[in-house]
Amino acid sequence: MPERECFGGLLTGYPEVAVDRFDGRCLNASYFLLSHLHSDHMRGLDSAELRSVLQSQPQPRLLLSRQSAALLTSWPRYAALAPHLCPLEVGVPRQLTDRLVVTALPAAHCPGSVMFLLEGGAGGNVLYTGDFRLDGHQLADMKALHDADGHPKPIQALYVDTTFCVPQRRELPTRSRSAESVLRLVTEWLDRAPDNRVNLDCKARYGYEHIFRRLHEATGMRVHVDAEKIQLYERLPDIARCVTPCASETRLHSCRPGSTCLRDGSGGPLRSITLSTMFFFMNQAVDCLEYHLGGERYRVLYSFHASLGQVREMVSYLRPARVVPCVVPPNSSLESVVALLGVASEPRLELQSSRLPTARATHWERRPSEVLQPHRQHTGQRQPPKEIKRIRPKVESPGRRQGHQRSPQSAVGAPEERAGAADTRPAWKSPFDSD
Ligand SMILES: [Zn+2]
Ligand SMILES: [Zn+2]
Repeated sequence: MPERECFGGLLTGYPEVAVDRFDGRCLNASYFLLSHLHSDHMRGLDSAELRSVLQSQPQPRLLLSRQSAALLTSWPRYAALAPHLCPLEVGVPRQLTDRLVVTALPAAHCPGSVMFLLEGGAGGNVLYTGDFRLDGHQLADMKALHDADGHPKPIQALYVDTTFCVPQRRELPTRSRSAESVLRLVTEWLDRAPDNRVNLDCKARYGYEHIFRRLHEATGMRVHVDAEKIQLYERLPDIARCVTPCASETRLHSCRPGSTCLRDGSGGPLRSITLSTMFFFMNQAVDCLEYHLGGERYRVLYSFHASLGQVREMVSYLRPARVVPCVVPPNSSLESVVALLGVASEPRLELQSSRLPTARATHWERRPSEVLQPHRQHTGQRQPPKEIKRIRPKVESPGRRQGHQRSPQSAVGAPEERAGAADTRPAWKSPFDSD
């Protein structure tokens, strides 16, 4: 059973705001918040109905990070939204009305991704994480989440990314660690023959740039990507230098399987490396960092979503009055997510209202032929996945961190030690350099 979204875009106590949904009842809102540019958070964003609502407003009402605004306008499909964009500086509160204040905070999920803190409405302080991957100490660095004394502000409701809130995903390898694994597979293959090539199969539209950068640094080669991505990365200069529109100048690709540049005859033998998380989850390969599918086909575990441990850290640190899971993981239930987080959730009716379970295939497209099939093909029966390398996730014990703990299970630093730190780091760098 695939994961299901269980967040419909509306926040209790903030009827004037819609987040990451731009259709149906959300069109009754007067402020529209977009956390990042993955398609499962952009439903209705290119619709005439939304444009009509936005045109009826006196000021731009589509709020997003400055970096997301730059990326969004690189796509012709969304060009008509340009006059309605209201870019937010990360970490800087924006007064929307006499009482309503919204602050974008780093989410460390993909370039431009942010969480939103809403204050002043009938719902009290509400934090919507969108998709995120943060450690507790990164929350402690966020000034907007703390009062003048450096204590975390009371949070009435936490709408949280629970994509991997299952016991098997208590920890996930850091993205840097995943990148090193990819690099090893790449260099091992390229060094074997001068015409060998590699394709990185990335499911989401973007969010893997750290790996491109790492490969470029280590091999000196740029990564071939399609014209749409070239256009996108023109807005990210640090990445633009690591990619190329010219397939013949490189042996590294991140192109769709079946692309002309990857077909037989257009180059040397190809090793395929697919970056994913769900594959490992569905195949019970919880301890693997790499997975050999047979031939020159590999999977590497790469997650830009928080692990169960990281979500727990967030809940433990913020101690919200209510937690609203936004996703039910595969083969799980809302009840078990809530139980794992050890919190009271929104009333069940509200959680399930007006929201149809929807398979989400933005970050990974399941290919039934790949899932488990290789083992059947080779052995005639399902076998445990071939483990290539065991991960040893970086786990910081609470004792290793400085400062007080707000609750027994909290593992984050003292906010008073960190509250002065500005959270204005370049949004796209923070995810990868910090984990
Ligand atoms: Zn996402
Ligand atoms: Zn290519």
